Amino acid sequence: MKYLKIDSKGNIITGTTVILIASLILILIFVLTSMYTLENENTDSIANDNLKYIVNDYNRNLEVLSRDSIAEVTEEVYHGKYIFSSEREIKKVLNKKLDDKNKEYEKKYGVSISSNVLSIKNTDDPINLEVTTHLKISKNKDRFSGNLKSITSVEGLKDPLPYAILTPYSGIWHDDKKIHYGTTLTTYLTAHGIDKPEGYLGATSPLIIKKCPYDPYIHHGDGDTLQNCLKNGYFHESADGSCYLCRLEGKGICPHYGFEVFIVPHCVGVEYSVSGSDHVVFHDRYPGHKINPEDPTELFLDVAHRTKYGVLV
Ligand SMILES: [Zn+2]
Ligand SMILES: [Zn+2]
Repeated sequence: MKYLKIDSKGNIITGTTVILIASLILILIFVLTSMYTLENENTDSIANDNLKYIVNDYNRNLEVLSRDSIAEVTEEVYHGKYIFSSEREIKKVLNKKLDDKNKEYEKKYGVSISSNVLSIKNTDDPINLEVTTHLKISKNKDRFSGNLKSITSVEGLKDPLPYAILTPYSGIWHDDKKIHYGTTLTTYLTAHGIDKPEGYLGATSPLIIKKCPYDPYIHHGDGDTLQNCLKNGYFHESADGSCYLCRLEGKGICPHYGFEVFIVPHCVGVEYSVSGSDHVVFHDRYPGHKINPEDPTELFLDVAHRTKYGVLV
């Protein structure tokens, strides 16, 4: 009898332990699942199909409006406005556009809706920016509240950097392909004590951000690759060059992964000047040279850039 009693007690304890461990595992699974859902606000968590459709539709609009807002802030730079914080300025423009869009949604879908742009950040690829927006939508008993992340490309937008920097010097202009510096760049370089600033009289650089397809870049020295790159006005990824958000603020370099573009001179008989990558012209200002000073559009280039692009003579 004694042994049986102990045995049955033992069984009870073992049984309780099993139930306890099983419950703990279930609780853990539940907690992990909810954490995952909270961190990845996605529309899959919306039970109501109608609301899911509205949120997805909103997300598509958000992508278009984000790009429109970035383009609008770029236009402000082209009209002489100094942008202190590009993120704050884009947020301001985008929030205004979203307020109008929200009113449209209220009318169209009978929802109650509010939004707030939380951040505009760089991604691993300088051509893409990530816009995070907090969205709250409710319709009858169904509601969605979460952060929408959308990726917006700056490909096809104007390069804001030259105008952000050179607006105080009158004479810069552009056509639909190129920025024409006139005398502005020479005046700017003279003000910064650069030797041979006349190398950049009448220089040009591309207007529109386009990614250079000649990757790896070291092949720019092959055949007429560099000539084609310059003709098409391609931009290059660069750890030294500044990102789109910093270009809007007139920064020639920045801590983010950014772009580098060549400034093409139009002069003869000048052997050297500042090296022709835009971050060098607008910030670092170290010298570069031409192999043939009689070739008007040959780039002034330093050895490091010649090596990077494979154009070592
Ligand atoms: Zn290129
Ligand atoms: Zn930056």
